[in-house]
Amino acid sequence: MRASAIAAMTPYLDQCFANPSGSHRFARQARRALDEARDLVAELCGVGPGEVIFTSCGTESNATVLNGALSGGAVCSSAEHHAVLDPVTHAGGQVVRVDATGHIDLMALEATLGLDTQVVSVMAVNNEVGRITDLAAVAAVVRRVAPQALLHSDAVQAACWLDLRQITAVVDSISLSAHKFGGPKGVGILTIREGRKMQPLLRGGGQERDRRSGTHNLAGIVATAEALRATDSARSGHSQEMTKLRERLLNELMRAVPGLHPTIDTKSSVPGIVHICVEGVESEALLFLLDQAGVCASAASACASGAMEPSHVLAAMGVEPPRAQGALRLSLGATTTGSDIDRAVNVISDAVDRLRKVPVRR
Ligand code: PLP
Repeated sequence: MRASAIAAMTPYLDQCFANPSGSHRFARQARRALDEARDLVAELCGVGPGEVIFTSCGTESNATVLNGALSGGAVCSSAEHHAVLDPVTHAGGQVVRVDATGHIDLMALEATLGLDTQVVSVMAVNNEVGRITDLAAVAAVVRRVAPQALLHSDAVQAACWLDLRQITAVVDSISLSAHKFGGPKGVGILTIREGRKMQPLLRGGGQERDRRSGTHNLAGIVATAEALRATDSARSGHSQEMTKLRERLLNELMRAVPGLHPTIDTKSSVPGIVHICVEGVESEALLFLLDQAGVCASAASACASGAMEPSHVLAAMGVEPPRAQGALRLSLGATTTGSDIDRAVNVISDAVDRLRKVPVRR
């Protein structure tokens, strides 16, 4: 968590801990803090305060939007996070392919949409490969072919890199998750354009104007607003620095490790994610060696029934399984330094060398 977010939240854990939905003086004090947090989040997202709904996570924000879609009425891309893909497929919705660069195929999208489409959900930034979606182009298709549909974007991976105001200018709703931008785990945001119909996922006490019942996590919400403020003001400088570090990481890796394939063109991806496929090694073994040497990375693979399965995102992009098996996702963040990059390159290069010397298991 950002230090300023921890500082912002602390008074709401030990001094002002009343429920903002109450009516006594302490509750009214809590309410003011909630209102201020909402105003700030709204401004940073480029929406009105009445268009902000606080939830418990990005998954809940996505589920809330997709919840109301009738069978066949929801559409998403094949590279979505499971928090979108699973509710859409569970509800009998349709999944539109992405091209080899990870971008939703706009012609396939157009062919899938109809006057019965209720929700279209396309992520702003892909969590595995970092691909940025051209949401204006997606919106142009949706508004032309299915003007009745709500256009949603899972922007959970976007907050550190893209101006959220530009995203909400073209879509009807977005999901965010506080821990992706230095806020606490357990707070999500859903913005939804005024006048757009939605079905609450959680019904009960009527909080959030009946759109999301449940006692507010006030300390978490206050910290989230502060984390988003700090993220917004640092975004452009941070992106420039990370772009340089990413270039250094990729160049050094390409120099040190033969048979390494960057998955995405850096021009169309966020600087915080470097995705590569390493020939002749299996991600699982590589991650094990990296972890032992103190380099924390991921393979963006799901471990099902004890076996590593190639990522659905890479499969959707048409990356062949032998190449996808050597997938490695490295993340850069606010605390990453040049010496971290140098160390990671050395550790990865040594680990790949070691693995390539081991005879392949059959
Ligand atoms: N969507 C994307 C793109 C994500 O990367 C994640 C989490 O990593 C989620 C949704 C789910 O967010 P949460 O864990 O807050 O539910």
